[in-house]
Amino acid sequence: MNYIIFDLEFNMFFRFKEGDLANPDLKNEIIQIGAVKLNDKLETISEFNSLIKPVIYKRLNPYVKRKTNINTSQVVPRRPFVETIKSFNTWMGNDAVLCSWGQDDILGLRENCLFFGFDALFFDKFINIQQIYMKFRGLTKQPSLESAVEGLEIEKSLPFHDALSDAVYTCDIFRKVYDDRTDAIINWEKVQIENELKIIELKSLLTQSDMRCPECEGLVQKHEEVTKTKKYFAFGFCTECNIPIRHVSRITNKNGEYSIVSINAINKRDEVSE
Ligand SMILES: [Zn+2]
Repeated sequence: MNYIIFDLEFNMFFRFKEGDLANPDLKNEIIQIGAVKLNDKLETISEFNSLIKPVIYKRLNPYVKRKTNINTSQVVPRRPFVETIKSFNTWMGNDAVLCSWGQDDILGLRENCLFFGFDALFFDKFINIQQIYMKFRGLTKQPSLESAVEGLEIEKSLPFHDALSDAVYTCDIFRKVYDDRTDAIINWEKVQIENELKIIELKSLLTQSDMRCPECEGLVQKHEEVTKTKKYFAFGFCTECNIPIRHVSRITNKNGEYSIVSINAINKRDEVSE
């Protein structure tokens, strides 16, 4: 079994001019894939590095431009995502575990594959190296890649925020903290599908949550309701206390668990706000 330690750079929406809109189906578009392949002895056997031509967010977000060293007009050849992911998938081979620093990159990789209709890449074996590092160190807050590199006294010889060099750093960390006797492999695909089903279930329950008066705890009748993607607002009036009530219910994720959190408050303003 081989380990594929990968890292991605993304471009995302930026309002360059009036009327520019984000695509709700693709929040983060991959513009670089960097990866290192390790054998079961954790020795490097191959590297992968490819720049991708963005088609949804063609101009680089100024934040991305500042953070990475990537320019829109960079002279190196850029290939479309599907072409790149095909060769990445072939390069990976059959017996491979995807590994990355945190969840953002695996979420983004799956989102891009779904968006561009590439379904040959499997997400059933995944290792979150950040999580292993956090356990190793007893951390509760997610550390940055750079702070982990410093924490393990790994020499900083490459620039950060380049997909390949970040993947190389992640490998260095992996070698220091990974214990193959522990079962760190997650079925990411299964977890995602379960999460999606849970969100659908919770969305249907959002509008059913009770609106109560924060003063007397009494049930208040809803006069107005507004439903957003993962949020639900209701407005009413407590006739006992003579106060207007504002109710907000939202779907939240805490330590990977989705649930509905509801807040009832006295309505000071007569408007729906974020
Ligand atoms: Zn009341």
